[in-house]
Amino acid sequence: MSRIIVLGAGPAGCSAGYHLAKSGHQVTLLDKSPFPRDKICGDGISFESVQALSTMGIYPQDIKRLASEFAPVNGLLLGISNGNCNTQVTSLEGFCIPRFVFDNLLYGQAINAGCTALTQTITKLDCRQELYKEFDYIIDARGVCAGDANAIAIRAYWNIKSEDFVEPCRSKAHIYFDKVLGVSGYGWIFPVDTKTGLCKLNVGVILWLDEYQKLNTNIIRLFEEFIQRNQQTKELFSKSVYQHKPKVYPLATAKQGSRVSQGKVLKIGDAANLTDPLTGEGIANAILSGLHVSQAINMSTTVDLAAENWQRLYQIYFEEDLRTGLRIKSLRKYSFMNNLLILLMNRNSRIAEQVTYAIAGLTPYNKLLPPLMRY
Ligand SMILES: Cc1cc2nc3c(=O)[nH]c(=O)nc-3n(C[C@H](O)[C@H](O)[C@H](O)COP(=O)(O)OP(=O)(O)OC[C@H]3O[C@@H](n4cnc5c(N)ncnc54)[C@H](O)[C@@H]3O)c2cc1C
Repeated sequence: MSRIIVLGAGPAGCSAGYHLAKSGHQVTLLDKSPFPRDKICGDGISFESVQALSTMGIYPQDIKRLASEFAPVNGLLLGISNGNCNTQVTSLEGFCIPRFVFDNLLYGQAINAGCTALTQTITKLDCRQELYKEFDYIIDARGVCAGDANAIAIRAYWNIKSEDFVEPCRSKAHIYFDKVLGVSGYGWIFPVDTKTGLCKLNVGVILWLDEYQKLNTNIIRLFEEFIQRNQQTKELFSKSVYQHKPKVYPLATAKQGSRVSQGKVLKIGDAANLTDPLTGEGIANAILSGLHVSQAINMSTTVDLAAENWQRLYQIYFEEDLRTGLRIKSLRKYSFMNNLLILLMNRNSRIAEQVTYAIAGLTPYNKLLPPLMRY
């Protein structure tokens, strides 16, 4: 049995804490904030995240029951602002659940598995710290502040009367490319709560820093511009009865050659830059990295071996897909390619389905790339 401290109780930290405590280790789960706490996010729980949750003993029926007031999502609308779009209905359901609720569910699962909770802020990790003496392993799951931020996003909540947001729109996740957001950036509308008289929508934009810096503007202005340029957001905004103040937050999406272990410090989730480099979706990989880091520790007889094994598992389970995602990102140089993608999706239902499932994390990018290149 090892003494382990997990820094950060987001999806990555809770998953690591859950698996390590279940396998008999003495685990302290530390976070700077008491739970429940908010996390700025699109609140999209993709099919892949739903699958990953089952490793923590949370199954689709539990998510449905526990989050019964929130919205199941049965498809994706992918389009260009005021231009072509493709709507793909899927047989698998995703969800939109505010992170205030979702993360608390995972936190409860980790505590029930036997983790000891601690509220404290750890800003710098260096070898002199008591943590190194006190614990056999330090799992760094502090999110983007421990990773390399390379994208930025803004999220707002809008409340709108149910009759102003009707089917087929209300059960779809909407993603719109728009020239003002660069080639890789996009705006989203995710329906969070559609069960009551007032719908709650999560609306935002995400941009990657390489493109954002060239735009020489600020994200709040870009968000406002996107809302006005996109017919759907413009209409919803004008009809909304209440808008929460938008909040900005960075993301740590994939980067080349990530080192995820250093001595007894093992990085997971956003701290290890595991977020999808094309979509910014990171919850599934955060949860799965918690599972795999616990396997690396359980399979190893020494701290050095665990570090080596975690680096290896990272390469096996995450690196290839992240690398292909980065490759696709580098191939998308001009805005017209987004138009081309939507046109292709409208012409070829197989491609439309594959792109939709790739965005939801179920089709690996290396399976998507060859048919797209053939076209
Ligand atoms: C605007 C936006 C929209 C997004 N939308 C989606 C989406 O729809 N779907 C999706 O899958 N992903 C989305 N993501 C990405 C997703 O939020 C992250 O990938 C995911 O939260 C990573 O989980 P994590 O556990 O690694 O980190 P986090 O969820 O960031 O958790 C880190 C934890 O560490 C704690 N912490 C931080 N610093 C310290 C410190 N110094 N000391 C102690 N504790 C600390 C924090 O309080 C937090 O609880 C979005 C991100 C942003 C910014």
